[in-house]
Amino acid sequence: MESRAIALLKEAGQRGLLLSELVQKLDHSASDVRNIVESLKRQGHVKEVEDQQNGASTIRLVWQGGESSEWNTLKGCPCFVCKEIEQCGEGQPITPWYCGKLNTWLAERLNPT
Ligand code: SF4
Repeated sequence: MESRAIALLKEAGQRGLLLSELVQKLDHSASDVRNIVESLKRQGHVKEVEDQQNGASTIRLVWQGGESSEWNTLKGCPCFVCKEIEQCGEGQPITPWYCGKLNTWLAERLNPT
């Protein structure tokens, strides 16, 4: 999913995309897409730019260039950007066995579309 997000952001150019547009285009949950965006922001590949739309302030995500260190996150594995990683583990309330984010990511790897 990260590769596709990068491709879509690159394609959008300086106009950028709203987070909602990216969520819609990727057809994934907003939280999964937000995790990818946060990872790309931390790497300096994406910048948030304030914009006005119909009189309301919105934030556009604009690709800043550079190569993604996708290998650092094992091709978008949600664990690398997960806010719950400190509480996650075998025998803990949150476990990789029943994690929707991880299972969705694994399913994508096994059944790429
Ligand atoms: S398994 Fe799920 S909850 Fe645990 S660190 Fe990974 S993404 Fe986060």
